[in-house]
Amino acid sequence: MFHVKHLSRLLRAALMAAVLPAFLFGCVATRDVNPITGNTRFYGYSWEQELKLGAESDPQIVAQYGVYDDEALAEYVRRVGEKVLQQSHLRRPDADPRFRKLTFTFRVLDSPVVNAFALPGGYVYVTRGLLAHLENEAQLAVVLGHEIGHVAGRHASKRAASQSFLQLGLITGALVGQGVFGGNTAESVLNLGSTGLQLLFLSYGRGDEREADAVGVEYAALAGYEAGEAARFFRTLKRLGERSGQSLPGFLSTHPDPGEREQTILRLASEWKQRTAMTNVDEDAYLARIDGIVLGENPRQGFTKDGMFYHPDLRFRFSVPAGFQVVNQPTQVTMVADQQQAVILFTLEGEAETAKEAAARFGAQKGLAVVEQGTSRAGGNPAAFVVADTQTSDGKPIRLLAFFIDYGGNVYTFLGYTHASNFSSYEGVFYRTMQSFSALRDPEILNVQPIRVAVRPAGRTAAFRAFVTEGERLPKGWDAERMAILNQVALDEVVPQGKKLKLTR
Ligand SMILES: [Zn+2]
Repeated sequence: MFHVKHLSRLLRAALMAAVLPAFLFGCVATRDVNPITGNTRFYGYSWEQELKLGAESDPQIVAQYGVYDDEALAEYVRRVGEKVLQQSHLRRPDADPRFRKLTFTFRVLDSPVVNAFALPGGYVYVTRGLLAHLENEAQLAVVLGHEIGHVAGRHASKRAASQSFLQLGLITGALVGQGVFGGNTAESVLNLGSTGLQLLFLSYGRGDEREADAVGVEYAALAGYEAGEAARFFRTLKRLGERSGQSLPGFLSTHPDPGEREQTILRLASEWKQRTAMTNVDEDAYLARIDGIVLGENPRQGFTKDGMFYHPDLRFRFSVPAGFQVVNQPTQVTMVADQQQAVILFTLEGEAETAKEAAARFGAQKGLAVVEQGTSRAGGNPAAFVVADTQTSDGKPIRLLAFFIDYGGNVYTFLGYTHASNFSSYEGVFYRTMQSFSALRDPEILNVQPIRVAVRPAGRTAAFRAFVTEGERLPKGWDAERMAILNQVALDEVVPQGKKLKLTR
């Protein structure tokens, strides 16, 4: 949690989320050209709408995940992306000028999850978790080519024209509406209000995934990469999927069986090899780029331990109510009660100078009926609060407690809300949590450091297992097998002396 997000926007997102699908479905199916095949077909959005959708959703993606703080690495990913893009259908001489003009944005997101995805209009995202799991530039080129393929194939727009997408959207809308009123996962609350994230829910058809795989290999091969290298990465995805015992988002869950993809990629790559020179693997250069990349969760951006939430970078802490699930995101911390009967959001107030001013501004919002307001304190810091009634867009009554704290030159905000009839049961929990906010002074916590990848050559020829030593610091939940997956080797595979390994520091 780093960035500033305005509370009224948050509240609007939380309460009015059900409105957003209307924007998504405000589209009329239009006939247009598929840049990959050149055929004409129905799309949910016009090309212009796709551009607009991407541009509007990108800030939400950035807010949700945060951008990884390494400009040199971002520049490198952009460079590889552009190289692959130049070989895409969007850049060919016979392509429609509209497509040739499309500029792409490549971003590295600050998430430990292994994932890559694209939004319509030329937005491609890879996570730092994914970059850590790749072994060379050729693999990155195919991943980026695959995502460029989703944009070029207008797969999201194609999906938007089909009924299954409509159903999916309605389900998402329903989950959002359920947020405060019972549902199954914290995810449904967390994803509210974000069109971009709703697009991520959208699973492409298997045919679209196969097309993206095929053009991913094609674009990378034409850019001179040994595209068959990507097959090993799909083996990694398969191992990750088996290990987690649950479906992973995006790149994994929405795709055909990774085992099948591994074979397909090898076959397609060997076909391209007959036609074009594919020599670039660029392992050493790639590994040098990701040497030092953060592995697993970054505790400096906030973590929960023994019922407390700590934020070393912003130097504060607060207690987490028993039975509440915590999800820490760049722009907010969300705490959701069991059964999702109540939610507490925590964020930075972006505009007000003081807690008092923030409370006054909050209470003056349209659609809010203020029940009570006043001043308070939290960890010795001045605070102000508002209790108010409002309702969801489908008319369900909500009572909320907004609590603003002056600390370290910022105004921090808690927003607790629940169904009006439940408020009296949660009021005490809300106040206790919000008033527990205080300065973080424990030097051990203030100095906590993330675990990073350290690229080191194997000092001798031995099974991979031997290199994950007892003293190795591993991210929470990781073991030697997980490190083997990171290195795309089997745990007992013999690694030759001098081979560069991704270990930790
Ligand atoms: Zn895909």
